[in-house]
Amino acid sequence: MKTLLAVKNPLAETAEQLRILEEGVAWVRFDAMLKENRVEPLRATGIETLQVNVGKLCNQTCGHCHVDAGPDRKEVMTREVFEQCLRVLDEAPEIKTVDITGGAPELNPHFCWFVEECAARGRHVMDRCNLTILLTRPHEHLAEFLAKHSVEIVASLPCYTAKATDEQRGEGVFEKSIKALKVLNSLGYGRDERLKLNLVYNPIGTAVAPDQQQTQAEFKAILGREHGVVFNELYCITNMPIGRFLDFLVASGKYEEYMTTLVKAFNPSAAHGVMCRTQISVDWQGYLYDCDFSYVIRER
Ligand code: SF4
Repeated sequence: MKTLLAVKNPLAETAEQLRILEEGVAWVRFDAMLKENRVEPLRATGIETLQVNVGKLCNQTCGHCHVDAGPDRKEVMTREVFEQCLRVLDEAPEIKTVDITGGAPELNPHFCWFVEECAARGRHVMDRCNLTILLTRPHEHLAEFLAKHSVEIVASLPCYTAKATDEQRGEGVFEKSIKALKVLNSLGYGRDERLKLNLVYNPIGTAVAPDQQQTQAEFKAILGREHGVVFNELYCITNMPIGRFLDFLVASGKYEEYMTTLVKAFNPSAAHGVMCRTQISVDWQGYLYDCDFSYVIRER
């Protein structure tokens, strides 16, 4: 079996796209790579987290967005699907964490109700927040709501400079993100043990993520010194070649180069820790996946 190190991309919609995607890419046997690095068997170990993709509606249209989210998207999880998720939680006490993602999850009209229901069931809730939504009318009450329910915030911030952040996420996003972080800090986020505020760094362009500890130290020093912002941890992630980022790679002729970079950067520790070993992901229509990247690939 010949397999790309990353998932073989089934996203080519034309013969020309297929040629660009397949020609010259460094083909390797993924299973052989795992064996060589003693990562076998790469199997799920149990379900600890239910990831809920509540829809594609978002107030932003970031250049790298893997779900192609934006203000015009109509895909939104219904109350019925949320109720099915709650039934799963009732029947599976081993699921300790509910990870809510989107789009901007807070734009789903059932978001607050669902958070309350999960909290009432004693589950740890995570909100994948883009920060700017917390300042957008009529959602300014959300920061307090999240703090009240001890919701962990996992917030995107690709850089500590306005230029790089705005380049990836849109004009003015950095300034609004800093304001939102200050609001969260004022409520105890990043300071109070109960209120975790974690940031997510992802590279701009075709680089892979840098060393996490070093980048976290830089973020803490610069955000603290220049903006008085504190946070708990920084997660460095590499962009998946799917969604809008794939469109960019193909359009700019960088797909082959990027895939080769990914092959060379294969990290056995990351392979050991992939989320699909302990989580199950449900999409806005209620279909189940081993991770939200599989969901996006199926939707295309
Ligand atoms: S990356 Fe996040 S904030 Fe940006 S458009 Fe996609 S869902 Fe919205």
